[in-house]
Amino acid sequence: MFSLKFGGTSMGSAENIMQTADIIVTHEEKKKVVTVSAMSGITDLLLQSAKCSMKEDELCYGDALGEVKRIHLKALKKLVKNKELYDEGEKFITERISHLSEFLTALIVVGEVSARSNDAIISLGEILSAYLLALHLQDRGEKSQFINLENIVSLRAQKLNNEFFNTLSHQLSELLNPLLEKNITPICTGFFGKIPGGIINAVGRGYSDFTAALIGKACKAKEIQIWTDVSGILSTDPRIVPKAHVIDEISFGEATELANLGAKVIHPQTIWPAVKDDILVRIKNTMAPSDNGTAITRKGNNSGKPFKSITIQKDITIVTVRSGDMTESGIMLQLFQEFSHYDISIDLISTSESSVSVTIQNGEDRVPDLVESLEKIFLVDVESGNTIIAIVGEEMKNHIGVSGKLFSALGNAKINVRMISQGANEGNISAVIAGKNSVEAVQVVHKEFFGV
Ligand code: ASP
Ligand code: MG
Repeated sequence: MFSLKFGGTSMGSAENIMQTADIIVTHEEKKKVVTVSAMSGITDLLLQSAKCSMKEDELCYGDALGEVKRIHLKALKKLVKNKELYDEGEKFITERISHLSEFLTALIVVGEVSARSNDAIISLGEILSAYLLALHLQDRGEKSQFINLENIVSLRAQKLNNEFFNTLSHQLSELLNPLLEKNITPICTGFFGKIPGGIINAVGRGYSDFTAALIGKACKAKEIQIWTDVSGILSTDPRIVPKAHVIDEISFGEATELANLGAKVIHPQTIWPAVKDDILVRIKNTMAPSDNGTAITRKGNNSGKPFKSITIQKDITIVTVRSGDMTESGIMLQLFQEFSHYDISIDLISTSESSVSVTIQNGEDRVPDLVESLEKIFLVDVESGNTIIAIVGEEMKNHIGVSGKLFSALGNAKINVRMISQGANEGNISAVIAGKNSVEAVQVVHKEFFGV
């Protein structure tokens, strides 16, 4: 079987849902389980309605829910022609939304939104989108069934440990395999239950990828496909290099590195359960279904090129501290303790005998306090407005001269490099440059290595 997941934009409108349905119906694999995200924008509206209810403002959450209702009813009209199915759909959407409205009113009385309540609120997004898609497929005469995973996790579950995942996996396969045997395509909600700690805290936004990975693992999928609105992971940001190419295959490690460096097609942690079992995860484009996409595998491949992708991170601040003797023992500890005290995380580090430079991205508002503390021990310099450009790819280990070429390309374009760091795993090299050079830097490096 295949586990297919369709994201918010693939479910964004009636037209998108029809395209998604086309992909499902014409899919090469007969047995598939589909998982969907909420229609794009709906999870945000639901989170907003939860916040509204805390302001005791019924009007405000009424607006948000009204919008949720309007969007789904409008899609339903275009998606379902059969009168009986249509009536069923209208009833379902209306009832579900009025239940949520009652729930929000009750929350005003309680006076707080717990993680569990928050989960109950956002679950509606995936319930409605999965329902719409299943109904549309039935309207087309296809064998499909709406599967609400909202209550699959038992209320008793306390921790997200192995036992929890084993039980969940067992339940998913018991639920889905009998349908697959009858060639029915289950359309599952990406929201899979009120999990300990709340799904947004424990998994994060984009949790439907996680659900698709768990389903793929539970049903021993040949492949998991994450359908989105880009043709995979690219060699760089196509807004900067329009001819950037799609990467055929990437290792889990490289995908994680790229995500941490700002490339946000997928949050790799969510697919780890499947990758660990050696199930291939492929990113596919709903708007261009015949494109191959990018395969994420446990080991990756050698692309034949010196690396896979170039990333940039903007708004980087360099903090440089100096003291007479940076080699004094314990001085680094003191330095990092100050950053930790202000909860500011450090990205790159570069040291000399008399100074240390680090880069930080967030925590701008806490920097003045940090600097004040650091100045008690060091001479401190702060420069904001920088960019980190990084090249990422495991093949770098076996290519000589990659860093030489990288820095020559930057040097030839008269771009000054402020700090350099080669990842300890030899899977990336980062350079810090002035923000104003960001676009040109990416373009010259892409051209140097990929020819366009
Ligand atoms: N709809 C949820 C979100 O926007 C979950 C998902 O898209 O996977 O985060
Ligand atoms: Mg999403």
